[in-house]
Amino acid sequence: MKELIHRMDLSARLHMGMGNTYLAEYIELQKASIEKICVGHPYIASTFYMPGEIYRLFDVEAIYIERLAGFAAANRLLPDIKLYSCVNRLPECACSYQIAFDSLLRKNCIPYPREIVALSYACDDAWMYGYYASEKYRTQFYFIDVPRNLEILGEQLKALSSKLRGRYREKNSTREIVDISNKTIALKEEIDRLRFENPGIMNSMDAFRMFTLYNDLGNPKVFDVLNNLKKRIHENLKGYTSPTGPKILWLGVIPLYHNRIVADLEKRYGCKIVYEELFDFTNQYLSVENFFYDLASRIEKSVFFSLQNRLESIMHYKKAMGFDGIVHFSQRNCRFLPSMVPVLRREMEKAGIPFVEVAGDVVDPNDFNIERFWNVMDVFFESIYGGTKFGYKGTRY
Ligand code: SF4
Repeated sequence: MKELIHRMDLSARLHMGMGNTYLAEYIELQKASIEKICVGHPYIASTFYMPGEIYRLFDVEAIYIERLAGFAAANRLLPDIKLYSCVNRLPECACSYQIAFDSLLRKNCIPYPREIVALSYACDDAWMYGYYASEKYRTQFYFIDVPRNLEILGEQLKALSSKLRGRYREKNSTREIVDISNKTIALKEEIDRLRFENPGIMNSMDAFRMFTLYNDLGNPKVFDVLNNLKKRIHENLKGYTSPTGPKILWLGVIPLYHNRIVADLEKRYGCKIVYEELFDFTNQYLSVENFFYDLASRIEKSVFFSLQNRLESIMHYKKAMGFDGIVHFSQRNCRFLPSMVPVLRREMEKAGIPFVEVAGDVVDPNDFNIERFWNVMDVFFESIYGGTKFGYKGTRY
């Protein structure tokens, strides 16, 4: 992990030097957590969507499997994922986030977790890997089967918290965690409002860099990160003009090793990515009395929880800011997101919204064809522009 920590340090300092305080703080926050576990602090390896507020109650670090894999991928520090999965007999159809994380554990880049916590939402791959890794690395495994029942999910989160209470010292009270989480959500709501009222006011790539803050909502430093982001948005408002080109909604992920893909797309087609569903935090407020049930409610209301949630969110974005087309980036081998695409496409057709799906592996650069990506985009934007063709590097004719 030394190399990753070094690169994160460089990246944080670079962003600080460029005045992107929020990005520098975000990276520092993640770096501090990795540094802590590298010197022996116990940690829980967790799947995405497991509410970070529960971990913040205790004196233990939480490393989100997909996030750590994402950092390693963005810094091109991963081995050949396919080869690794083949040699180590991981399922060929497994999601590369988990394979990447396993490669980091196996190579002793990070210590083994004290326990692994996995939800059955968003996907089965994540919890199945959690179970596999707990056997392989002899760690405790906690599984939360996310039902379509708020009470049962709330009870399971409560039971998990009780188990963790038996293993770790309590660090924060529920009241403290609820207060900071609610304060942060209020700020996030304000940022969303500014973005909806002023489409394109925020650099979309920054949203992709920071969307995993969703998992850190009980951490007071997240408030600082978002507060500095809000300040940047206010600065941007001074010279703001509404985008003249097409406004695009981005669904799904982005290839993490192509950190210029959004900027290149905006430049090539004169468009603006105005929102990313991954940056939608659901904005659920918490209460001390119903802490676990409110967290369960946040999971159930999240964008990806059901097709219905996703469709309603898209229509909400459409009403709030309007957009001219949708790009859906599907992760290779994801059992979850791509399966929703046929219905999304049909519904968008009915609503008269141009929709395109592109696919690739967000972690493994060997499974993403950039030429094919631009070819598909050329055709998509040709339809949005009503016949304007795009040639090499976006030349219009
Ligand atoms: S990308 Fe898909 S398969 Fe991979 S962890 Fe996320 S939901 Fe699961």
